Order: sequence, then structure tokens, then C-alpha cells
Amino acid sequence: MAITRASRHLVQNEPLIFERSAAGKRGYQLPPLDVPAADLTGLGRLRRDQIADFPEVSELEVIRHFTRLSTWNYGVDTGLYPLGSCTMKYNPRVNEQVARLEGLAQGHPLQPEELSQGALRIMHLLSRYLLEITGMDAITLQPAAGAHGEMTGILMIHALLSARGEARHKVLIPDSAHGTNPATAAIAGYQVQNLRSNARGTVDLADLDRVMTDDVAALMLTNPNTLGLFEEDIHRIADLIHERGGLLYMDGANMNALVGRARPGDFGVDVMHLNLHKTFSTPHGGGGPGAGPVAVKSELEPFLPIPVITAGADGRLRADYDRPRTIGRMRSFYGNFGMFVRALAYIMANGCDGLKQTTEDAVLNANYIRRGLEGAYALPYDRPCMHECVFSDQKQQAHGVSTGDIAKRLIDYGFHPYTVSFPLVVRGAMMIEPTESAGRDELDEFIAALRAIAAEAETEPERVKSAPHTTRLSRLDEVSAARQPILRWRR
Ligand SMILES: *Cc1c(COP(=O)(O)O)cnc(C)c1O
Repeated sequence: MAITRASRHLVQNEPLIFERSAAGKRGYQLPPLDVPAADLTGLGRLRRDQIADFPEVSELEVIRHFTRLSTWNYGVDTGLYPLGSCTMKYNPRVNEQVARLEGLAQGHPLQPEELSQGALRIMHLLSRYLLEITGMDAITLQPAAGAHGEMTGILMIHALLSARGEARHKVLIPDSAHGTNPATAAIAGYQVQNLRSNARGTVDLADLDRVMTDDVAALMLTNPNTLGLFEEDIHRIADLIHERGGLLYMDGANMNALVGRARPGDFGVDVMHLNLHKTFSTPHGGGGPGAGPVAVKSELEPFLPIPVITAGADGRLRADYDRPRTIGRMRSFYGNFGMFVRALAYIMANGCDGLKQTTEDAVLNANYIRRGLEGAYALPYDRPCMHECVFSDQKQQAHGVSTGDIAKRLIDYGFHPYTVSFPLVVRGAMMIEPTESAGRDELDEFIAALRAIAAEAETEPERVKSAPHTTRLSRLDEVSAARQPILRWRR
């Protein structure tokens, strides 16, 4: 039986499920047919026996196959997942239970409004909480991810400036920004102008003053930035942008450092997105579904995507499509509703004090790691951080060991790697975000692992450079694995 390259690697020394196939084995049992058999020919559907080489295996073999595959993966439910900038926190199971309630899971967006009041109420309530948390005036829950939220926000900025009769062509983006920021600005038709960071790792005010001309539509700023540092001059930055007619977009992917402690709406932000799948504990990874709500100041409210959920005088909620200045739809229906349910469950389970505590614990954990690894790894910006810390491989480079090698070696120690080589302003970056979910024992083990790897880099660098040694596959061609994944067992 033909096996692809990928599946041959996967089996190694274990028999491959597809090779256990034998004619007549069944993985299901159906009751005898009690209706007339339908003729499916001509419907374009294939019967199992029309597919050549369709594997025939038992139910148990199928279960074992997929269960085994699942154990070859690593997730937040397996152990620490300190992927910087991703906020890979625990997804509380109570969220899942609530999202599976029949009335919510089985709801349909085409249900009449009078039968959807509960779902609308969930979205309305979540919106109000998110506005309270961010200090903004109005919000859309529609975008399906952070990057999608960025696009929504920038289109709204464009609409506002057009309404003012202004054609501004540039968007300023700091050199520490996430790659989605310049991509968003470029796709929206703006020219991207790079903004330099200063020696402290934050926006260089002199550079901002130089590049902030009347051709600049907006500054896209992440705060805390991707170095995990709070932009302390945020008020002056906001004033400078506003004085010259621009808008301040905040990439809110790092809100896990701010919730309950600081509100972007209070420090001059005009529009921002949130990542519910980061800050608000909805599942993350595997390509979705996510949710990237966009919150705005009142000036931008008329441009929100449709529909906007509004409450009538009688308390009934409705989806308002009659909004002449809207930028239109950004996604079908209301967005990824299941994520709203989970985020709301998370917010309500934590309450104000819990959310604040979460933020403080996330920041404490990152600083614990920062101090724990001092001396073992170079720290390009040596100052207290927020929810994540960024080291570099500078010391290990002397032995030919890079951030990517160290990350691979971490796998042998049982941890998911940190974020490698981002942010780009730090050469050989090692970006670590433990989140509040990690307990002290786990942080200590993680620190010990990274310290052991630092020692190995000096004494046996080859061992680090050829890691991982404990996985089924060692070094993949990561680009091809992402761009041309082999998703079938046979071509
Ligand atoms: C994750 C992230 C994004 C993009 O969010 P997605 O939901 O992955 O599209 C943007 N900016 C920063 C700083 C991020 O960490």
C-alpha cells in the first residue's frame, strides 16, 4: 500500500493503521434498514466500496489510531506553553460547558430576533464588559481574529478621515510591531512608515515627532509593546498624534497585562482590537475560530460594521442594519458566537477582582522568569517587564547555538518552545510569556530547564543544535510543513 513520506515518518516502528486494513472489517454498526433503500447514483456521492483502497478497520483500531496521534501533540492541557505574544492561558472547562448549553450551541443566526434574545443579550453584555475593561465607547464583536480586527479598525479610520475630507496616505508602525500590523496597513492601501524604538525599547518620541506629518492617518501601537514593555509616554504619544490630525490605533493583543489596571480609552487610544482567544481564555490555535472585537471612541461609532446590537426602550435587543455610514460587513452574521459565550463566562467567573488578579499574576510570572534566567541569557532591555519577557541568544551564539536550537532543546525537557526570533528588533529573540496559568513549581522547572540548556550550550553545543532528540521527528522543514502540509495518508 502506498504511504506518503509524512506517514512513513509517523509510523517509524509502530504499525500504520492503514496497513491494518482488511476487507470486511467494520468500524461502525448500524441498525438494519427500516426504510426503502435510496438510490444515490447521480448525486455525486461515492459509496465506501467505490473508493479504491479505502481502509477497512475496526472501531477500536480507529480509536487507538487517533488517540495515539493526539498524544504526539502538545497543548495547553499538556503543560506550559510559553509562546510569547500568544497568551496561551488555560481554557477553563466551565467555559466549554456553558458554550455547549443546548440553547446556545444549537441557536441559529437566522432565528427570528424574538427567539434570539438570549444570544443577543450575551453579545450585548459581553460588549458592555469589554467597553468597561477598555474604557472605550462602542464596539463590534464581529471580526474573527486579531488581524481581522486590525483590518476592521483601519478601515474605520479610513472612513472617518474620508468623511473629514482628508486623504492621508501613511500609517506609522514601530519596528517592534507584530507582523500583522504592517500587513493590515498595506492591505488597506496605506504606506507603512517605520518608527524607531529608543534604547529603552519604547517609541522614540523624537523620531515620532519627525515622521508624524499631516499625511499620517494613524499610528498602530501595541501597548505593552512586543518587548513586554509599557509605553510610558503613551499620553504624549497620543497627544502628538491627535494634535496633527491622526488617530491612535492600539493593537490590544497584549491586554493580559492591562485588564483591571489600565484602560486604553483613558490613555488616548481611538480604536483597538482585543483577542478573546488570548486575553479572555477562549481556545486558541489550530487556525481558529477566534474573535477579535474592535472597540472605538464615539467619533468612530457611525462606521462600525453592521449589524450593531442595540437595546430598544422596551429592553428588547435587536440587530441594527440601518447604519448609513457603516464600513459594511466584516464577517457573516455576528462573528464567532461560541467565543463570545466563553469570553463572557470567563469574565463573569473572574469578576472585577479576579480579572485584576489575573493581570497581576501574569506580570508577576513574567518577571519571575526574567529574574530566574538573569545571567544565563542576555537581556537586551534590562528593566521590569509586563506580561512577557524577551531574552536573546547572544551569549549562546558564541558557541554557535541559536534561539531556534534552544527552543528545540526545550522540547526534550518537556516544554513547548517560547516564541523564536520575534520581535525583530531583538536579534536572536527568545520571547517568553508564561501567563497567569503557570504555578510557581512549573515556572521553577521551566527556569531550571532553560538554565540547563544554557550550560549545555557551553559544554556540548552539538546536543542542543541537533535537538529535539525525544520526538518522533526531529527537525522538520518548517516552511514546507506550514505551506504544503500533507494532510492525507496517501497522495
Ligand atoms: C496575536 C497577535 C496579533 C494577531 O492576532 P490573531 O488573532 O492571531 O490574528 C496581532 N498583534 C499582536 C501583538 C499579537 O500578539
